[in-house]
Amino acid sequence: MQKHIVIIGSGVAGLSAAVRLGAAGHKVTVVEANDYVGGKLTAKMIGRYRFDLGPSVFTMPHLIEELTKISKQDAKFEYLTLDKICNYFYEDGTTLTAYPDKEKFATEVQNKLGETKESVYEQLKYSATAYELTGELFMEQSLHKLSNFLNLKTAKAILNIGKLKLNKTMNDVNSARFKNKKTVQLFNRFATYNGSNPYKAPAIINIISHLEHNIGAFAPKGGMHDITMHLYNLSLKLGVEYKMNTRVTQIITKNDTAIGVETSNGEIKADIIVSDADIKHVYTKLLDKKYYPTKILSQEKSLSALIFYWGIKKEFKELSLHNMLFSDDGQKEFNCVFGDKKPYHNPSTYINITSKVTPTDAPEGCENWFVMINVPHNTSGQPIEYVQEMRKHIVAKINRVLKTDIEQYIEVEEVLDPYLIEQRTSSAGGSLYGNSSNNKYAAFLRHANNSSKIKNMYFCGGSVHPGGGIPLGMLSAKIVSEMIAEKN
Ligand SMILES: Cc1cc2nc3c(=O)[nH]c(=O)nc-3n(C[C@H](O)[C@H](O)[C@H](O)COP(=O)(O)OP(=O)(O)OC[C@H]3O[C@@H](n4cnc5c(N)ncnc54)[C@H](O)[C@@H]3O)c2cc1C
Repeated sequence: MQKHIVIIGSGVAGLSAAVRLGAAGHKVTVVEANDYVGGKLTAKMIGRYRFDLGPSVFTMPHLIEELTKISKQDAKFEYLTLDKICNYFYEDGTTLTAYPDKEKFATEVQNKLGETKESVYEQLKYSATAYELTGELFMEQSLHKLSNFLNLKTAKAILNIGKLKLNKTMNDVNSARFKNKKTVQLFNRFATYNGSNPYKAPAIINIISHLEHNIGAFAPKGGMHDITMHLYNLSLKLGVEYKMNTRVTQIITKNDTAIGVETSNGEIKADIIVSDADIKHVYTKLLDKKYYPTKILSQEKSLSALIFYWGIKKEFKELSLHNMLFSDDGQKEFNCVFGDKKPYHNPSTYINITSKVTPTDAPEGCENWFVMINVPHNTSGQPIEYVQEMRKHIVAKINRVLKTDIEQYIEVEEVLDPYLIEQRTSSAGGSLYGNSSNNKYAAFLRHANNSSKIKNMYFCGGSVHPGGGIPLGMLSAKIVSEMIAEKN
């Protein structure tokens, strides 16, 4: 039966939900506080340069193709398959390229870091096994429904529990496998893909490296923002209506049933509400306090980021689309960011350059640099004070490692920090991925995709199950639309 569904927020999960629910024949209205769609997945021209402002790593393109298919629209999402995953640079001058070709990658790790090729194959096999055993269980269905645990897949996962090394951390497993700290640093890095600490995150988080190293590394042809525009255009063709520049100020409930939203432009009645806004924002600002789930909302938040967008008047042949200049000491860096809750003075510095694959993103002879370090989420609610101090550290690091003098090539600059991320998307403290995965129960302590207390109230997006990042956000929308289909 057709329902009127209001979606709060047009992040990638909100857009995915709009496509799915629109394709299912519902009347869908998306209410978005900003004057643009996409939330964190947005882009901007700065001078002569185009920048994706948020995500830069693109995995699991089949999730987008699935939405194109569901929408039955004549549209194509175009992307490239990369022949390099990332160029790595270490403080001692070691450089290494991670190739998606396993043989080539294992040879590179053997030659540059002194590991055996077998250890690399074992690591990749371990991440593949973890994905096969648990991917569907933890990522593609609700963890809050008993029947989802009573099936063959779950039984198989339980029987193979030893292989998953559930009592070990990511770092335990990686440092037992590899003798060189640099290799450990490389594989530990994948914890940051969901904003976590490899010295605390369970070993199963190694599952993330499976996506790039075993499935493949990709790049949308027109940049990451193409994902937003593709989903937005599909939803428009399905009749989804957008109310932009409109902030939801309250979710209206009656007898513990969601019946509409109060917005900055008036009230909208609804049969069902799907929120793509950060779960903490929803419970602190939009719902009555009696619904506040204290335990779920007191979990540790994921990392945030400090990003400099630089138009660079020079080409750097040694760099590719994804580049990582590692910190001098991985453990000290994570202790500092998660323990002392401040940025590390010699930070792992990620440089993303989309003009390497989409040359029109920068003028000829120039490059668009997205320079990012991980920083703690912001608990002060105040603007960030360390931006200029960290800029000095980052510039010094780039100069040291790439043997350059980068300042002279910076033509334009803008900054994004945890405070601004929160201002623009309502994410708690500017965290990028909702809760961190810094303990083995984290997966069970994310908010469910529906409310157990409010009828007709659903949640998608990076701050709820199954977690942050584009693929998981899109999967949260899938779970929500399946729940709605089951009940209506
Ligand atoms: C710098 C950065 C780098 C990242 N890198 C990667 C990466 O490489 N790969 C990856 O997969 N992921 C990455 N992520 C994470 C990824 O961007 C997010 O997990 C994902 O985009 C979150 O989508 P979402 O649907 O949860 O909503 P969001 O993008 O958070 O959007 C929520 C939307 O809801 C709107 N909203 C909130 N409250 C209200 C309200 N009251 N009324 C109306 N509208 C409201 C907001 O305006 C916003 O548009 C990165 C994020 C950032 C910021």
